Amino acid sequence: MATFKLEEHLSRLAGKYCEGMPEETKKRLLERITCNEGNKKYAINENRQGKDDDQYRIAGKGEDGQRVYELDELKEFPDINSDKFKNKVYPPDSDKHNYTISRADELLKKLTGNDSKVSQDLKALLERSDITFHVRNDWQYPNGSCAFKERSEEEKKKDGKDYQIVICLCDLTKTGDDVLAGILTHELGHALDFSQRPKDARAQYMDGSETFADISGTALAVNAGIDPRGFAKFMGNDYDTRVKNGRNTQMLYTPDGNFRRENFNIAYEAMSKAKENREQKHQKPSLKDIIDSKRGISASAETPQPQTKEKTNNNMNMYLVNQSRGGR
Ligand SMILES: [Zn+2]
Repeated sequence: MATFKLEEHLSRLAGKYCEGMPEETKKRLLERITCNEGNKKYAINENRQGKDDDQYRIAGKGEDGQRVYELDELKEFPDINSDKFKNKVYPPDSDKHNYTISRADELLKKLTGNDSKVSQDLKALLERSDITFHVRNDWQYPNGSCAFKERSEEEKKKDGKDYQIVICLCDLTKTGDDVLAGILTHELGHALDFSQRPKDARAQYMDGSETFADISGTALAVNAGIDPRGFAKFMGNDYDTRVKNGRNTQMLYTPDGNFRRENFNIAYEAMSKAKENREQKHQKPSLKDIIDSKRGISASAETPQPQTKEKTNNNMNMYLVNQSRGGR
């Protein structure tokens, strides 16, 4: 079997979800997964096991760190019936739990209700998965997490489900509703990633995994007609505040907040345009177009004007260049 390469896997899968996007735009978007921008850093393993401390630290100047590394927390799976887990989440019969979960349920239905590749992949994954949602009581800010595991043969036999997924969400009564779409689709993006890797490669990690989940999550949202940028706005504002106060903007295990904000903004813009183009292509020509085409005037709904398409590409390239230089 070919050796699994995380960067190639993430790029290929995200590329699949960039349906109808001009090649050049897609390339620039996918490069965000593998590039070194956004205070991207290499991790040094501190070998701290079994504690709540981080397993890695950020490599300093001149230090050689790892770009792709294994995370212990991706190997461990939370026991949702343990006191340790239950103490961290609101009880399932509480108002706080019900408020957030009912909104997540609503959203989830929309995400699986269209024929885009990313939506179809999610639908297929959910059919094979035992998935539970929980609301963390100790998160003060917008946040989410996704734990994924393949079940044992014995467990699979019980209900035929191959995977177990545990998604934790922040308490929306604290953070406001507008962060949910970005968080939920991002975490589902991680689940799509994990489910399509070989079993022994599921603990592999890189900063680009976060960018992958931002891009794939945005694809899920855009194809369902939802704007996921509320979460990006929070991350971007957090970054801006850090800069203003002279604080460190580096984040362990993820690109910085500005880069993450751009992930969402750039992907949202490009995917919205791609969706528009796809829909235009599928639209039936109007009566006027049919009459015009009989008269020998080109039917614009059937054949998009090459000039317009070119202009869109150029605009997008400019936008991406400006974004990657860190300012608008
Ligand atoms: Zn993530």
